[in-house]
Amino acid sequence: MHQLEPIVALATAPGIGAIAVIRVSGDGAIALTNRLFRGKDLTEQASHTAHFGTLRSATDAIIDEVLVTVFKSPKSFTKEDVVEISCHGSEYIIRQILSELVQAGARLAKPGEFTQRAFLNGQFDLVQAEAVADVIAADSAASHRAALSQLRGGFSKRLKDLRQQLIDFVALVELELDFGEEDVEFAKRDQLRGLMQTIRAVIQPLIESFSAGNVIKNGVPTVIVGKPNAGKSTLLNALLNEEKAIVSDIPGTTRDVIEDELFIDGVRFRLIDTAGLRDTTDTIEAIGVARTRQQIDKAALVVYLFDGTTTTPDELQETIAELAESGKPYVLVGNKSDATPDATRQTLDGSLYTLSATSTVPGLPAGNVPSSPIIWISAKDAQIDALKTVLSARARTDSAMQAGSSVVTNARHLQHLIATDDALAHAIAAIDAGTSADWIAMDLRIALRELGELTGEVTTDDLLASIFGRFCIGK
Ligand code: GDP
Repeated sequence: MHQLEPIVALATAPGIGAIAVIRVSGDGAIALTNRLFRGKDLTEQASHTAHFGTLRSATDAIIDEVLVTVFKSPKSFTKEDVVEISCHGSEYIIRQILSELVQAGARLAKPGEFTQRAFLNGQFDLVQAEAVADVIAADSAASHRAALSQLRGGFSKRLKDLRQQLIDFVALVELELDFGEEDVEFAKRDQLRGLMQTIRAVIQPLIESFSAGNVIKNGVPTVIVGKPNAGKSTLLNALLNEEKAIVSDIPGTTRDVIEDELFIDGVRFRLIDTAGLRDTTDTIEAIGVARTRQQIDKAALVVYLFDGTTTTPDELQETIAELAESGKPYVLVGNKSDATPDATRQTLDGSLYTLSATSTVPGLPAGNVPSSPIIWISAKDAQIDALKTVLSARARTDSAMQAGSSVVTNARHLQHLIATDDALAHAIAAIDAGTSADWIAMDLRIALRELGELTGEVTTDDLLASIFGRFCIGK
């Protein structure tokens, strides 16, 4: 196994903690740490063993009591010799240890350098390397699941196999070029065509998964709309206050509630244009019809809130027609259930189901019944559980969010997938048109390069620098 110069970095988050882990990787990592360590001789220990002792400075002063874990090449994250030093999580101790290790011959690691070494030593492909960053950054159940599936190989293994098969064909097509004018055909066109179609069939769902993948990573763009006084800002506050309560109930969490972000059952919702809702002074002017349309356009899910005490069945039907026209999934929420008489509620509930038969609203297509009944809440009393249940269920029924399916969450991956698909579509069209081998070979080479850059089989220094440079130091 190829081992590079030893590098060192803090592997845990900076700041004060009970324990901090400092990681050393590379040629001589174990011997170098051993020079500072008093306890067993680390160079004699088996891989995957932990040893208690003290770390001393060059002047033999004790810096800390530590637990050192030894990983021997190639059985480590980077496949190099690796030492993990668990010390007390004081910033002073961490600085001292890092400084002693640097004096002993290690170099401070660059951002992502551990993961980059793991990649260069064949620990995983590029998609998996990027997933390491995503797993660490995952802050919702769904994004965690998507990142883990990529880390385990997800779609890249399958693409790598298919690319290999394509390489064999390209070799045959290029051989034909060597024969110049002679009319030879080594690469069976129907088989080549079949393979390309198989690859497209794998790639296209991945391209389509990007919008759902993006949702997992960045949240479901959700908008709360409704007429002035429906209770939108009250609802927003109720949702965010619960969130605050949940977050502050978890001991030791310091994460601030981000005003336009909401987690429900592990799904992230990104609330659009909440600023307008919080600024209640000019609500009536601000929430014009045109503006509401714009907000709906930006959303993947619309929460339409109406005041149960003042809304008539006819108004409700008009609203439903408008929502249906927007084509966006929506939930219809009746607010102020505390002040709405049962009879009024029943009339409004019932009006949904007679809708398609009796509607006189112009432009309302037949069968335009909402997919779920009215969800009744009282924003003022924070009675909003019914809404939360429906929101999380809506997000989960999106098939791409189900466990197990491969989802593309990375814009770089998407770009290579689209370029591959384009090149294959060209090549197939070229075959169908009976075009000469040199044109087909050109498209095939583009497809191979794009696929290769996706999984990291084709890399350039620039590409690696841009990917790993985005990691933080210590990863
Ligand atoms: P917005 O214009 O849609 O943002 O509406 P607001 O949130 O400002 O609420 C308008 C009025 O309705 C305020 O006086 C709220 O106190 C009241 N309101 C909001 N939610 C409820 C509720 O669930 N029940 C009752 N009875 N009043 C509510």
